[in-house]
Amino acid sequence: MLARQRDAIVAIATAPGRGAVGIVRASGPDLRPLIDALCGRALQPRYATYLPLRGSDGQPIDHGLAIHFPAPHSYTGEDVLELQAHGGPVVLQLLLARCLAVGEGIGLRLAEPGEFTQRAFLNDKLDLAQAEAVSDLIDASTEAAARSASRSLSGAFSTEIGTLRDRIVHLRMLVEATLDFPEEEIDFLEKADARGQLERLIASVDEVLDRAKQGALLREGIRVVLAGQPNVGKSSLLNALAGAELAIVTPIPGTTRDKVTQTIQIEGVPLHVIDTAGLREATDEVERIGISRSWSEIEQADAVIFLHDLTRLGQADYDQGDAEIAQRLSLAEPGQQSRVLHVFNKADAADATVVPGEGSLALSAATGAGLDGLRRALLERAGWHASPEGVFIARTRHVHALRRTREHLEMARAQGASSDPALDLLAEELRLAHNALGEITGAFSADDLLGEIFSRFCIGK
Ligand code: GDP
Repeated sequence: MLARQRDAIVAIATAPGRGAVGIVRASGPDLRPLIDALCGRALQPRYATYLPLRGSDGQPIDHGLAIHFPAPHSYTGEDVLELQAHGGPVVLQLLLARCLAVGEGIGLRLAEPGEFTQRAFLNDKLDLAQAEAVSDLIDASTEAAARSASRSLSGAFSTEIGTLRDRIVHLRMLVEATLDFPEEEIDFLEKADARGQLERLIASVDEVLDRAKQGALLREGIRVVLAGQPNVGKSSLLNALAGAELAIVTPIPGTTRDKVTQTIQIEGVPLHVIDTAGLREATDEVERIGISRSWSEIEQADAVIFLHDLTRLGQADYDQGDAEIAQRLSLAEPGQQSRVLHVFNKADAADATVVPGEGSLALSAATGAGLDGLRRALLERAGWHASPEGVFIARTRHVHALRRTREHLEMARAQGASSDPALDLLAEELRLAHNALGEITGAFSADDLLGEIFSRFCIGK
């Protein structure tokens, strides 16, 4: 990967399809041949110049803006050229082809997904957590997720990790210095209150871990299954939950293929709702496959809303239908009944009031009464307790790395607590904690992890 880094790269940076403007972007050690051929003149650094973008016959492919960001003052830290033209696929392909043709001499090739950001990382423009935030910002499915990604991108998360790292490094220095002077060891560590420092460090890791978990929730959202018989009010409930939120919601890529999944949000936390409508009878093979896929999604969901109709409770055929669904739900998740939230709808129209038991609540999708209770219950089940303002976006990978950091610090604490601490083991645990933390910002990251992270970006980013 590092060997290829000297190549110049180019890609269409805007989304495929037609748009008012489209951008072709190149990055490399020296892009002068590209600028000469396409722009026909030198460009003032970081100024937009309107000019004809010329093809091989000297005729303009389009008129547009060219911007040159000479290294190191660019996104990637290399020379970057941006050509902004009309956003038609043919225009952009012609510009791209022209770049590749004139860039042959400088080894110009098409960029791989995420390669611009990867270079930004390798050239210390961004750390790994910030690079991931770039992709999370682009993929954000709610406004709150976008805001917290933006916070991570500006370094809020990395700063917290950096502070923890400095404190681990300080402790490592203390312990390792003591190892070099064994005769003074215990006294020295006591004077520096090494144990107290370690205690406080673990408490701080816990705090960051908690916030990272919230950030991961904002990014990934919760998967909720909506189950219930026809006409109990599933669509009405979804609309009522969605309608109260005026903010923008878009489905996370990967969930859109699934026709029965809708994404709404509660307090900015994306809620991927899998509607089990139509899961009852399959008429053909395609539908059967869809249904079995939906049931496997149910097994992985964070919560199941089992919706009942208060006005029909007690009617024999209705009760029978509910029993069948209950049966299927328990088949789908043996021993996990606690995930199921029984929700009784149409409270406004029912004569009998049901006293909701443990894990159940009554509401009216029509009037909105009781909806807040459902929102709270769902967020609680998901483990959400933050306000979106303080959250930085995080990934499961970060949560795991923080957990491992904590485990090593915990083992260091156990070593330190013994009456005759093995300082070399303590030092080793601190080193491992340091490494685990470093994986978050990319200070210690294997190449395959980097490859995995950047390959999920879009091309041109
Ligand atoms: P679905 O088949 O489960 O998606 O049910 P719908 O959302 O289509 O609702 C079925 C019927 O119940 C519609 O006529 C709704 O107007 C009505 N309905 C849904 N929620 C309520 C409610 O809270 N109160 C009352 N009175 N009617 C409701």
